[in-house]
Amino acid sequence: MAIFPKRFVIAACMLKFAGYFLKSMTVIEHINEAKEPLVSFEILPPLKGKGISAIYDHLDPLMEFKPAYINVTYHRSETMFKKKVDGTFEKVEVRKRPGTVAICAAIMNYYHVDAVPHIICGGFSKNETEDALIDLNFLGVDNVLVIRGDAPKNETFFEPEPGGHRYALDLMKQVVNMNNGIYLEEDLKNAVKTKFCIGVAGYPEKHFEAPNMQTDLAFLKAKVEAGAEYIVTQMFFDNQKYFDFVKCCREKNITVPIIPGLKPVTTKKQLTVIPRTFNVDLPADLSNEIIRCKTDDEVAQVGTEWLLQQSRELKKFGVPVLHYYTLGKPKVICDVVKNL
Ligand SMILES: Cc1cc2nc3c(=O)[nH]c(=O)nc-3n(C[C@H](O)[C@H](O)[C@H](O)COP(=O)(O)OP(=O)(O)OC[C@H]3O[C@@H](n4cnc5c(N)ncnc54)[C@H](O)[C@@H]3O)c2cc1C
Repeated sequence: MAIFPKRFVIAACMLKFAGYFLKSMTVIEHINEAKEPLVSFEILPPLKGKGISAIYDHLDPLMEFKPAYINVTYHRSETMFKKKVDGTFEKVEVRKRPGTVAICAAIMNYYHVDAVPHIICGGFSKNETEDALIDLNFLGVDNVLVIRGDAPKNETFFEPEPGGHRYALDLMKQVVNMNNGIYLEEDLKNAVKTKFCIGVAGYPEKHFEAPNMQTDLAFLKAKVEAGAEYIVTQMFFDNQKYFDFVKCCREKNITVPIIPGLKPVTTKKQLTVIPRTFNVDLPADLSNEIIRCKTDDEVAQVGTEWLLQQSRELKKFGVPVLHYYTLGKPKVICDVVKNL
């Protein structure tokens, strides 16, 4: 019989112990079991060429806050024009941040924390979506955040892929079908029923393409009626916008949990980049303070304090989860969550 070193045996027992007691849960199960607001993080896949260690370096300092789950964004490929030696340009498709599905599997395996991949309409045919969902199901990932995605950077309007979905609602219906054992191949018999818990996006300041808030809310309600179990909001910097949004949703009988999405401001440049990229406002109190800052270090301090105050108020309000868009700034998020 092989004799193993004592240290090895202890480590193996600990792993087995962790494995026995790690129960993969859906976001809605986490929310339903929680006694107080949970914490969750959203990360981006690293730029192509970087290794998985980039993810661990980013997440390691955040793990002490025991996130209930971690979201991983999805990034479609972009069309770029590359200059050739003869001076002409060639059109190339570049995916800068691949790896969403594999990162989710790595997170669940390495940290024993549930992962929520974002799945998008853009760039996917229905068949490709089905394949991606089968991959997730085989990996034991039972959560998805279903979103449409934006138009590629050099295009004005979102256009679905040939044979793809135009709205998040349509993509959701495909996921719901698979949860009922209905795949694209209609004559498939006794197909496995997936059990994806579906989240969708909501916009306290209205989605930029929606003609008005009422229309946007009607489409949000349609997503919930089709099976979305919770909503994650676009970032906002004025809590009143979130409170008003929740009130409007409840008046429209949208009753699912509404998770606030929170992001720190850390550079002066973001004063213009955030409104332009995400179509949200920064309140005058915050922007005035940032304008007075002389360095980005000072901006980061202001941003951290602002996010902390926002988080404390939201916690008091009784939000289900404080969901932080970490976007490469784990230190700021650590400083906030530590002081909650
Ligand atoms: C929490 C969160 C996470 C995100 N993660 C990612 C990500 O990982 N990758 C990424 O590329 N993007 C991401 N985004 C950005 C998102 O893709 C964009 O905001 C996109 O423009 C809209 O996505 P949606 O799912 O809200 O779209 P939809 O719900 O499809 O809505 C898009 C627009 O169409 C309208 N609409 C909806 N249904 C209909 C209908 N049936 N008829 C007519 N109009 C309709 C809506 O009012 C809205 O104006 C995220 C956004 C949020 C808030």
